[in-house]
Amino acid sequence: MRGWVDFGAVKQAVSLEAVLRHYQVPGLRKHHHQLVGRCPIHRGQRDDSFRASLSKNAFHCFACQASGNVLNFVAAMEKCSIRQAALRLRRWFSLSAPGESVARPRRSVRKGELVREKEGCNSPLRFVLTGIDHVHPYLVERGIDRATAVEFGVGFYAGPGLLSGRIVIPIANARGQIVAYAGRALDGSLPKYKLPVSFRKARELFNLHRAAATGSKTVIVVEGYFDCLRVHRAGLPWVVALMGSSLSAAQENALLGAFDRVVLLLDGDAAGRTGSQAIVARLSGRCLVAEVQVPDGAQPDQLSLVAIQHLVG
Ligand SMILES: [Zn+2]
Repeated sequence: MRGWVDFGAVKQAVSLEAVLRHYQVPGLRKHHHQLVGRCPIHRGQRDDSFRASLSKNAFHCFACQASGNVLNFVAAMEKCSIRQAALRLRRWFSLSAPGESVARPRRSVRKGELVREKEGCNSPLRFVLTGIDHVHPYLVERGIDRATAVEFGVGFYAGPGLLSGRIVIPIANARGQIVAYAGRALDGSLPKYKLPVSFRKARELFNLHRAAATGSKTVIVVEGYFDCLRVHRAGLPWVVALMGSSLSAAQENALLGAFDRVVLLLDGDAAGRTGSQAIVARLSGRCLVAEVQVPDGAQPDQLSLVAIQHLVG
């Protein structure tokens, strides 16, 4: 029974007001049964977009459309799953230790309140970024045309929040639900790619849902988001990105579950070559594996479309 969290009990035990206090959200004004102020989630300019109802123990932001109960609030603030939010609330407010609520008879818990998530899964986001510019000069520079950018939802985000001023790249799970946005810096600021702290890269293969939907038995595996976009644009949409140069166990299972043949197209540097060899060793005998040598010092997104077609075709 490990892994069960009684969400209803956490919601009942912790008030939204207490959670807002925990975060020391500044400048909230009381207005009837509401607290009104600047949204601590997207941190916008308006000082009245965020409303917390004390009677309903729920919140809503008119600007970023975040809404929900204490669990949703903590999940949005921490960029974590609902389950992780519940565990954090339990810890912060010294609720029953993990294990205690597990022992409760199941019938005492309302249906739907008892939710089980697989350890380590990335939860779908409860918001989407809007107003993304798909024809930003940076994309043009990286050889990403408008159609590809639109299809992947990639572009420059000028809106409020942590990803402001970055190129945002939605990362979906195998079902196509967005579980994170990667935000690439354009001005050399660090980190180069901003990701939610709780995001588990090793659980996802970037672009898996689109690659699998092509029905191709072959999959091309690259390292980065832009490599993936570039290979897709070269007319080879059965491509996924590792978001690194190593293959996790979850990624390996996802690959073997959806495809019969793997073509490795990692970067032409030491990390790419070493990673590629390790993956060949892992997958040999389990599926057909081919390794494509990208020229020294190059990465797939720097190659011409013709060169990619020639290398992989
Ligand atoms: Zn907001």
